[in-house]
Amino acid sequence: MNQDSQFQQKQDFKCKDHPEKPALFWCKSIDCNENRIFCLICQKQNKHIKHYNGDVFSIDELNEFLIEKLKSSKGFISECELQMQSIIKSYNKLISGLQYKFCGLENKINQFEVYQKQQVLDSLIRQDEFMKYLKHNLEGIQQKFQKTIDDLFIKLELHLIQYQITDQQIKLNQNEYQKGISLNIKNEQNEAIQIFDKLLLIEPYNIEIMYQKANSLIQLNKLQDAQQIYQEIISINPKHEISLQKLGDILLNQKFYLQAQKYYEKCISINLNNSIVQFGIGECLRQTYQYNHALQYYLKAIQLDSSNKEFFYYYGKISMDDLINALLRKKHRLYLNKDTNIMLTKLDIFIGNKTDLFRQVINLISLRCLSQTENLITNEMIDQLCNSEFSTIRKLQRQKHRGYTYIV
Ligand SMILES: [Zn+2]
Ligand SMILES: [Zn+2]
Repeated sequence: MNQDSQFQQKQDFKCKDHPEKPALFWCKSIDCNENRIFCLICQKQNKHIKHYNGDVFSIDELNEFLIEKLKSSKGFISECELQMQSIIKSYNKLISGLQYKFCGLENKINQFEVYQKQQVLDSLIRQDEFMKYLKHNLEGIQQKFQKTIDDLFIKLELHLIQYQITDQQIKLNQNEYQKGISLNIKNEQNEAIQIFDKLLLIEPYNIEIMYQKANSLIQLNKLQDAQQIYQEIISINPKHEISLQKLGDILLNQKFYLQAQKYYEKCISINLNNSIVQFGIGECLRQTYQYNHALQYYLKAIQLDSSNKEFFYYYGKISMDDLINALLRKKHRLYLNKDTNIMLTKLDIFIGNKTDLFRQVINLISLRCLSQTENLITNEMIDQLCNSEFSTIRKLQRQKHRGYTYIV
């Protein structure tokens, strides 16, 4: 019975190059580029003789070989783990030593003998230099070590192992995954996350599932958890554009403009035509007062997607700031010492009345021709600004609330 089923299995195991023929041999040469498991025809065609005939074995010996190899892999992995544990042990010793030397002393200071105080003083004064040394050295090693490990993960394609799941399971998982996405759309995020977590137990490095889980976490405003997952994704696939974008978005939201810009720029290096990211860089630059530079990115975003009103709005907003600066430089009788908001509202009216001229001004500002811009701003315009009626201001404010955007 057992022999029969073995025979059956062998019969079912077909050659990839000759699907009608049973696979009878396998090749263990490290240089093999052929189909490793093959039939008699392949053997007769001498496909594997190019390396060594001695590398070819009977299919009966395959399972034994695989089991032996799997066992030795296990040993190798344990060795790696032990190595790591020994590093962690040394690191923990260092940290606990530092804690013993420097922590929890505040309440004991009064009870110290003079010689003890002298020692503490000496240690603390030397501490800065020591900490700098430690930080510099450890940071370099840690970054290099982490990169090596992450690169190994990518090189060995550990996230793409297919033999752990059956075809049937893959289908089941795909259905569940779709269910998760539907729940996300219906804004039932906790239920969606439950599904994604279950799937990740079976496929722990499936980037798509990880990405969807992070998206649900964002909806729940769990930004830190989402951020961690996007980081994991890009450590598996450094070119995962949308995760880079999301990391940029989260950091922008947390006002870490420089870091956000870094992620956006990585994103742009993958896809120059991502308008949201071009806009994101513009935002990072605007928030760090690099207005002219920001304008260039807003403009790129507008060129890529002219239907997005937000792009126009911020493009206009910056230009307004520049316009105000230009006006201030002219030192005309504007409300220099009064509320800026009133001045802004008056500028709104100005724009509402003088669209063509404003467009010209904007263009000049975007080309950094600020002195020419100043020339365009005439006394008449400033008069108009200063003499506007407040009823008109209110009317325009209402317009703005209804989605009025600056026309560029
Ligand atoms: Zn064959
Ligand atoms: Zn071979």
